Amino acid sequence: MADLRNVVIIGSGPAGLTAAIYTARADLEPLMIEGEPSSTGDQPGGQLMLTTEVENFPGFPDGIMGPELMGNLRQQAERFGAEIHTAKVSRVDFSERPFRIWVGDPDADEPTHLARSVIIATGASALMLGLDSEHRLLGHGLSTCATCDGFFFRDQDIVVVGGGDSALEEAMFLTRFGRTVTVVHRRKELRASKIMQDRAFANDKITFVWDSVVEEILGEDRVEGVRLRNVVTDEVTDLPATGVFVAIGHRPNTELFTGQLPVRDNGYLVTLDGTSRTAVDGVFACGDVQDDRYRQAITAAGSGCMAAIDAERWLEAQEH
Ligand code: NAP
Repeated sequence: MADLRNVVIIGSGPAGLTAAIYTARADLEPLMIEGEPSSTGDQPGGQLMLTTEVENFPGFPDGIMGPELMGNLRQQAERFGAEIHTAKVSRVDFSERPFRIWVGDPDADEPTHLARSVIIATGASALMLGLDSEHRLLGHGLSTCATCDGFFFRDQDIVVVGGGDSALEEAMFLTRFGRTVTVVHRRKELRASKIMQDRAFANDKITFVWDSVVEEILGEDRVEGVRLRNVVTDEVTDLPATGVFVAIGHRPNTELFTGQLPVRDNGYLVTLDGTSRTAVDGVFACGDVQDDRYRQAITAAGSGCMAAIDAERWLEAQEH
């Protein structure tokens, strides 16, 4: 028989762990299902597990390594009694209460857990180019977040990959630090909005390499450059750089909730009225799975706190 929990938290990045800390301290005995690492990009602990130094999370004047920060949050949640399972949720059913959650065989008749409330914190994954070298060099000169890592690239030559608003935003931000910023785009036209294009074209630190794809990120232990192939001429060239930012979009991790919860046009979960409430009463969402705008560890943590308080109040209201 499945156990009935007050709160099940799905996902274990800064949002999920903050929700776990708050709900544990509210004596709700939360269960967090943290996911399992997979070749398709699942990453317990979230995107910070893939970064090196984090300098903008308040409270750490000397910075902290991403995995260490997540380890601290985890310890803090466990200290107050949050239970953490390393497993992947395979199916949810929010059509009736208590909500039903499956781990393992999604076709099993019986769910693994029953939950009075659910907090979704499955995050988003930065899209990557799919190169082996990315695994080796992520956090070693290769990054997916200029706000997080731009500071480390002072006076360096930086490459940004992508042609959307994100790529141009990252490129413009990086001009504050880098010596040069080169945007590599696979077509001759940018996808970004006109205003962003105008700004980027007007910035004399930014140059563009058109019609080009990154075939390899060069360097063994640290980024040393990119190998580019011009898709029109097939010409292959190496461009030296010590920083590479891949900015080709993010994918919110919402597959599990298809058909259960509404998503916006861009695939992010809908939350209501500036709260963490979703369209299903008793199901809350926090962190990057519902945030396409800020995507910071601290905003994810803040929204995890919101979800915990929303869930706590909702549970309380149900009892009365
Ligand atoms: P996006 O609009 O989907 O753009 C992704 C870019 O990456 C495209 O230029 C695409 O090329 C390129 N790309 C995709 N896969 C690639 C691959 N495998 N190799 C090389 N290039 C690849 O994503 P986004 O820029 O993250 O923006 C997402 C949404 O957020 C958009 O609606 C955007 O307007 C919004 N946003 C707004 C702002 C702002 O207004 N300040 C800032 C950031 C994001 P193609 O063009 O050839 O497809």
